[in-house]
Amino acid sequence: MKKFVKPHKLEGICYDVRGPVMDEADRMIANGVDVLKLNIGNPAPFNFDAPDEIIQDMILNLRKSQGYSDSKGIFSARKAIMQYCQLKGIPNVGINDIYTGNGVSELIVMSMQGFLDNGDEMLVPSPDYPLWTGAIKLSGGTPVHYICDEQAEWNPDIEDIKKKITSKTKGIVLINPNNPTGALYPKEILEQIITVAREHNLVIFADEIYDRLVMDDYKHIAISSLAPDLFIVNFNGLSKSHRVAGFRSGWMCLSGDKTGYREYIEGLDLLASMRLCSNVPAQYIIQTALGGYQSLDELLMPGGRIYEQRNFLYKALNDIPGISVQKPKATFYIFPKIDAKKFNIKDDEQFILDFLKKEKVLMVHGGGFNWEEPDHFRIVYLPNVETLDSASKRLANFLSTYKQK
Ligand code: PLP
Repeated sequence: MKKFVKPHKLEGICYDVRGPVMDEADRMIANGVDVLKLNIGNPAPFNFDAPDEIIQDMILNLRKSQGYSDSKGIFSARKAIMQYCQLKGIPNVGINDIYTGNGVSELIVMSMQGFLDNGDEMLVPSPDYPLWTGAIKLSGGTPVHYICDEQAEWNPDIEDIKKKITSKTKGIVLINPNNPTGALYPKEILEQIITVAREHNLVIFADEIYDRLVMDDYKHIAISSLAPDLFIVNFNGLSKSHRVAGFRSGWMCLSGDKTGYREYIEGLDLLASMRLCSNVPAQYIIQTALGGYQSLDELLMPGGRIYEQRNFLYKALNDIPGISVQKPKATFYIFPKIDAKKFNIKDDEQFILDFLKKEKVLMVHGGGFNWEEPDHFRIVYLPNVETLDSASKRLANFLSTYKQK
């Protein structure tokens, strides 16, 4: 009998494609039901078109994009990424420290496959973007979740991180700005994480794909800009900022002091060449995307769609008895708390399923983000205010009588 990767290795990773909630949503849609999907961070279906310039540049370069490129990416893309790193203060990133990928997703898996041996432990936030947990498991590692504290604006709990370090801990994942909470970490927290990483010789994996989706005059600080002495693996991409999730355009850069990481870097080079190269047309838009005028900024300012939709949903949710929520500073996700006692919720996935069946709105339960307690869920606030209004009214209506059996 052949041995296959066991599905349990990927448990918790694919909240949008597996499980009873998605099965039910698929069934409903197949039966012609109009399901309102608030479950995926995919801007395009909600009339967030990519900037015209991006589309035009991709078309212009299509003929040139027919062959494989350098396995790490074309020069102009990597040069633009290198300059982006310079602007963000990400230290010591040369052309050869940059790998383009078919989205950040591919690079997360690659970075973990090259990094982990069986039994190694990786610290991952809870709640997390679950691909990290899946990629660690798939690579033979053990994800160890550290708590992000809702009472402290969803910042990582440093004491919890310290408590969970063992002799097997090899690295720590930081998702900042955070999916699903919308948190943006202040400098003090980043510095404390750096201190812990220094003390315990941990590699930081900084997923900063939402670094350009920040509101309210906050500024994103790249953690690597605060630690030139540490080896840090940085992730970013265009899926969200330029509304081109389908093009698959992301990158990974190695920053700081690379002494002692030669073997890991050789492994990454090998893995990059094994997949030959990332989607070439999507590399050709990186230079255009990262330079000059950024139409995204307008969406994040007062009057802009993302800003107004966040404000609307934040208030609407807090007005529902039994729901409370922190205001996201970044991203387009919100992670409300539900009073599990009031509604007798023991199983958060069941709550999401019951809501879907009754009100035809699809959200994701907190457990889908490796959040242990059955008392949170995530909403994507990409739809327009009218749609969010309808969704929050349906939620209020549902909760006015709901008691989980
Ligand atoms: N990292 C985080 C935190 C995300 O939320 C996502 C997508 O939702 C990704 C990475 C993957 O993005 P992509 O593979 O489209 O670049």
